[in-house]
Amino acid sequence: MISPYRKTTLLNRVAIASIGAAVVFAGSASARTTQAEIDADATSTGDVLSWGIGQQGQRYSPLKKVNKKNVKKLVPAWSFSFGGEKQRGQEAQPVIKDGKMFVTASYSRLYAIDSKTGEELWQYDHRLPDGILPCCDVVNRGAALYDDLVIFGTLDARIVALSQETGKVVWRAKVDDYKAGYSMTAAPLIVKDMVITGVSGGEFGVIGRVEARDAKTGKMRWIRPSIEGHMGYIWKGDKKVENGITGTTNATWPGDLWKTGGAATWQGGSYDHEVDLIFYGTGNPAPWNAHLRPGDNLYSTSTLALDPDTGKISWHYQYTPNDGWDYDGVNEVVSFNTGGKKLAGHADRNGFFYVLDRTNGNLENAFPFVNRVDWAKGVDLKTGRPIETGVRPGDPTKSKDGKKGDSVFVAPSFLGAKNWMPMAYSPDTELFYVPANEWGMDLWNEPVTYKKGAAYMGAGFTIKPLNEDYIGALRAVDPKSGKVVWEYKNNAPLWGGVMTTGGGLVFTGTPEGYLKAFDDKTG
Ligand code: CA
Ligand code: CA
Repeated sequence: MISPYRKTTLLNRVAIASIGAAVVFAGSASARTTQAEIDADATSTGDVLSWGIGQQGQRYSPLKKVNKKNVKKLVPAWSFSFGGEKQRGQEAQPVIKDGKMFVTASYSRLYAIDSKTGEELWQYDHRLPDGILPCCDVVNRGAALYDDLVIFGTLDARIVALSQETGKVVWRAKVDDYKAGYSMTAAPLIVKDMVITGVSGGEFGVIGRVEARDAKTGKMRWIRPSIEGHMGYIWKGDKKVENGITGTTNATWPGDLWKTGGAATWQGGSYDHEVDLIFYGTGNPAPWNAHLRPGDNLYSTSTLALDPDTGKISWHYQYTPNDGWDYDGVNEVVSFNTGGKKLAGHADRNGFFYVLDRTNGNLENAFPFVNRVDWAKGVDLKTGRPIETGVRPGDPTKSKDGKKGDSVFVAPSFLGAKNWMPMAYSPDTELFYVPANEWGMDLWNEPVTYKKGAAYMGAGFTIKPLNEDYIGALRAVDPKSGKVVWEYKNNAPLWGGVMTTGGGLVFTGTPEGYLKAFDDKTG
């Protein structure tokens, strides 16, 4: 199974994985993964038990053994190919326990690997039906560990819990209908002995939601839809009980559009035990053509803070009201404390970095982290709302033929000032390290009606770089001042996650095929 690096995109992700292991792996503990171990993941250096290297999502390893002085001596220990014709986009963060690495691959596959030798222990290859509808490559972003299980979501909208020892299925659950565009790509989150998941499919008019199941058995605990008007549920024993509608029906959505409103929860969530809240991002309102759905379209393009015991929305913050650019709002929420405040950082596709009070969702700071943002001049810190410039694509019903509205050029592009690839936060430097991209798009709207299983967008686009010499820029961002402390420009878009360490390093990979380590203070 050990093969030479055959493909630069693969090299990128696998190299990150093995370095992540090298930096973080330092021993083993008990065989079963307990909730207490997961809660302590950020500080325990012998394992990686959660997406985010700790539920708060900082992606900070406190280990100092690999540091600024010796990092140049790092060499590959092994590489592992996800090969065959199923080898496609690789976006997973591995989890590691007792010397075993569990990493998901394209087409809903999961591998158990000996983390010291790179030897395959077992492989689970999910049998996918014909007709799955992944919007944007057949990726998966990782698995979760709980007890003796390794749990992940599949492209046909199922959750599968496998034995860590054998790879055999212990329980499985259907989340929704893949023929309606539902799929699963994010890593699950384990909170209070529950497995927490979202759904993908915002380009097909699905209904986003966050769900909680008993992690040991898969039994439902609660479900919270992310679009106003839809009923939430809680399970009392085996009994499904109504638990209140999300928001107020038709408060921010016209007519029946909320029934196919999107707001997919397609990126992984985070959890902060200090405020006892689960944070999940929501994607674009559907369809992309915003002229069809006047209003804020809650709770699309938002962070939802959810009570883990009931799934009720404790607070929300919406980044892009009436999103007309597919900016989504799913990007990760990273908890951090500074100046006695419990805060959260979020770098949005829309070009702004947000600092929220994570106890109540109040906006503390917001500033651009890319050089050009056309759709808004800034964010009003008093109201928490963007100050829009009016750069929106034209209404197709007002065009001559009624088929294509006026095109506009707008930055960032919908691929985002930052997309799914997670940033890192160092409590040593108090900086965020953001994998940013500088690009814009021509964007226009078209008429569209909902049809089950068909793309529900009503928009067309052409992506364009903004600079001759680079698209990607790894930026060290100060959440207090809003200043970019340093940046590293990269020719290709940055499309990999970031990790920072107690050794004063920031790691990321590039599509050119390099693993790079930066000085956390100077870049
Ligand atoms: Ca750990
Ligand atoms: Ca989207």
